[in-house]
Amino acid sequence: MTDGLVTSIDEAQVLTTTLSMPYTLTTGPAAGSFLFELGNHRILGSRCEVCSRTVVPPSDYCSRCGEAPDEFVQLPETGTVTALTRTDRGVLALIRLDGADADLLHRLDLAKGAVTVGTRVRAVWAATATQSVLDLDCFVLDEDDQPPGTAHPAGEVGLIAQVPHQLELEYQHSYGPHYGRLFDELASSRRILGSLCPTCRNVLVPPREFCDACFVRTGQHVDVSDHGVLQAFSVIHLEFVGQTRTPPYIYAEIVLDGSATRLIHTVAGFDVATAAERLSIGMPVRAVWKDPADCRGTLNDIDYFEPVPSPDQQ
Ligand SMILES: [Zn+2]
Ligand SMILES: [Zn+2]
Repeated sequence: MTDGLVTSIDEAQVLTTTLSMPYTLTTGPAAGSFLFELGNHRILGSRCEVCSRTVVPPSDYCSRCGEAPDEFVQLPETGTVTALTRTDRGVLALIRLDGADADLLHRLDLAKGAVTVGTRVRAVWAATATQSVLDLDCFVLDEDDQPPGTAHPAGEVGLIAQVPHQLELEYQHSYGPHYGRLFDELASSRRILGSLCPTCRNVLVPPREFCDACFVRTGQHVDVSDHGVLQAFSVIHLEFVGQTRTPPYIYAEIVLDGSATRLIHTVAGFDVATAAERLSIGMPVRAVWKDPADCRGTLNDIDYFEPVPSPDQQ
């Protein structure tokens, strides 16, 4: 037995990780055409004749009357700043392009002069097209009424139908004193800890703050064996998101000696196709640990559980 609960919240491990979700965004006609034509150095808006309004970026439906736009129109590259804000990544502005009735949000490059509300600006195109809104690189001070940039001949507009996206959510997950201590001990000394309920005397693995049956605080960590008994198993053939092993593999519920709860892990070390013959409920199993150099302080430091005696010895 260990000296009770010694790990404080401050000492608990924190997992820093990123949740990544790749997906494609279906742009629709208006946004898809807008993005495509930026690559041709043309800024498209949409025109609603019911409301006599031209908006940019173009919209598939008029925000005033709900009608589909009568047409896409090409807008000039010049406009007037109507609002701006400074951020640590540059200056963002609302720009009323000449002939438009709504503002376009984009970034300003202030290197070529001070810009404020009412300043005349013009578009600067990116050197290489990426089929994104940044093909329109930025807006700069429109000095000396420069002639409009070279516009490509008008014609039927193109369309980018889908835009790939990758949503990245960075977050930190605190293991807390119980899981943190469990993972510390797994990584450093191959010990598996449970928490002892003072009322029912059950040992709960993984250790936790409260007993699931008595609803009382546990408070003391105790060692449990890396040997146990197979209580249930299932052969997994399906692939699904988040899997850490490649099917087929055996999902197992194991009660470690000295504990009262089922630990979910895998049973392996033999041909999975023979699982039904080799495995039986109530049979003893034992942990097969990874090489210490490969241990990361997770329950996967146990590579898998194997039947006792192992198939090699049978
Ligand atoms: Zn309208
Ligand atoms: Zn209890």
